[in-house]
Parts: sequence; structure tokens; C-alpha cells
Amino acid sequence: MNRKKPTPKHLTVVSSERVSPNMQRITLQGEALTNFPADCEGSYIKFLFDSAGNAIHEMVEGERPVMRTYTIRKFMPEASSIEVDFVRHITKDLQCGFAARWADNAKAGDNVSIMGPGPIADIDMAADWFFMVADMTALPALSAKIKTLPRDAKGYAVIKVQQSDDIQEIEAPTGFKFTWLVEEDSLSESAEAQPWLDGSPFVWVACDFDSMRELRQYFRNEKEIDKDSIYISSYWKQGVSEDGHKAIKQEDAKSSGY
Ligand SMILES: Cc1cc2nc3c(=O)[nH]c(=O)nc-3n(C[C@H](O)[C@H](O)[C@H](O)COP(=O)(O)OP(=O)(O)OC[C@H]3O[C@@H](n4cnc5c(N)ncnc54)[C@H](O)[C@@H]3O)c2cc1C
Repeated sequence: MNRKKPTPKHLTVVSSERVSPNMQRITLQGEALTNFPADCEGSYIKFLFDSAGNAIHEMVEGERPVMRTYTIRKFMPEASSIEVDFVRHITKDLQCGFAARWADNAKAGDNVSIMGPGPIADIDMAADWFFMVADMTALPALSAKIKTLPRDAKGYAVIKVQQSDDIQEIEAPTGFKFTWLVEEDSLSESAEAQPWLDGSPFVWVACDFDSMRELRQYFRNEKEIDKDSIYISSYWKQGVSEDGHKAIKQEDAKSSGY
């Protein structure tokens, strides 16, 4: 089958704002966004860089771009624009850390190319209650997804940020109990400490690889949540770039059956 190669979409930076000490919000605009689906908030896109970490404007034949995955936090179709929140992290190795470095230096008028959007798994809206767990990289996705839940939805949101000033206000059903963690607090310990509610939950987890594995052990093995009632994804791994993380994730998926 002759599958059509996806073409990159060209976007321009409209603004860059430090929303909290460790989060940089970039607003991007472009003609291509007019075709994005209305429900693309929470979906992922991939930013394209060359091997030196420069944002790519045009694809070069035979050269594979370096890709970095981010979430559409907010879609503003009337302005053909999206907001993307980048966690700030410093990588001394100049061979990686491209996305965080780009976001830190981005200014209005800069150009960048993306692929996507791609959806993440749907939440079962008919669940009796919801258990959402995220670190800062998944805060944009959680923020987008939680506001789509039924108004009377109840459950927990356990979110870890780098410092207390990174806590954000989130639009969510009033039946949610929020627990914010900082620094060394453990996502899994905090999740396990929440009293289990009656009925069948939908579990939504996105965070770093090691925490994801601890949380998977809890929800899948101890609480016996079946595959259709859980979205569990590792968004990054300490000490490896996104490319290394992808390979580790594939291995883990094979051995864990996920
Ligand atoms: C579906 C999906 C959606 C995502 N959405 C977002 C999003 O909206 N916002 C966001 O910030 N991230 C998001 N991420 C995570 C993001 O793709 C990774 O953090 C990515 O590795 C960052 O690329 P980089 O070029 O900055 O660093 P890389 O070159 O990938 O890594 C360089 C070094 O930095 C470390 N590192 C990477 N990320 C972090 C971090 N967050 N904190 C501390 N150290 C880090 C790595 O371990 C490595 O040692 C998402 C990931 C997925 C899979």
C-alpha cells in the first residue's frame, strides 16, 4: 500500500509566557490549525528539530528530524492558534534537551514545524468515578481532559509539580479532590493513600517512567483495573532523551503486555 507521508505543519510563535517558575507557555498560530479537530485539546503533537537542535522549517530529503512530543493544552480555532505548556528543565548535554531549550528562548515571530495532532486514549465517561494522576509534563493533558468529564463526575486528581508556585488553577467538576505534591513527594504513595471509592473507576495516569511503573503495579495488579478502564502512559524518563525513552517504553510494553 502506498501510504501518504504526513507533511509537517508550519507554525509561528505568537507569544511566550512564564506561567509559573517551571512552565513556559507558548502560543502558536498557523493556517494548518484551521483543519485541527474541534476536540483536539489533550491530543499530542510533535515538534521537529534538526540534529543541532534548531527548529526545522522545511524537511530535508533523507534527513530524519528529531521529534519531541507535547500536548495541545488549549485550542483557539477562531484565532487559528494553540497553547502548549513546556516544562522547563536544564540539560547540559547539547545533543539533547532541544525542546525545553527551544521553548525557553522562543519569541514572537519564530517559526517551528509540527506533526499531528494524534489523540490519546478516550476516557470512559460512564465510569462511576475517576482517578487521575499526573506530573508536570502531563498537567496540560490532565487540564484538557478533566474539564470534559460530566459535571457531576467525582474522584481524585493527584498532581506533582516541581515547586508550590507551579500549582495551577484547573477547571474541573466540583466532586474532584485535588492533591498537589511537590519535589520529592511520591505520586504512587499519595495515590495509594486516597480512600478507594465504591463502583468502577476510570484511571488516567501520565507521568515519568518510574512513577508510571509503580502506579501500574498499584492500579493494574492490586486494584485489578482492567485494560479498558485505564489510560496509563509514561511521558519521559530521567536520564534519557525522548528517543531513548521511546525504545525503553516499547520494551516495557512487550514485557508487561501494555
Ligand atoms: C503524549 C505525550 C505528551 C507530552 N506532553 C508534554 C507537555 O505538554 N509538556 C511537557 O513539558 N512535556 C510533555 N511531554 C514530555 C516531553 O515529550 C519530554 O519531557 C521530552 O523528553 C522533552 O524533550 P527535550 O528535548 O526537552 O528533552 P530530551 O532531549 O528528550 O531529554 C534530555 C534530558 O532531559 C531530561 N528530561 C526530559 N524531560 C524532562 C522533564 N520534564 N523534567 C526533567 N528532565 C527532563 C531527560 O531525562 C534527558 O536526560 C509529553 C510526552 C508524551 C509522550
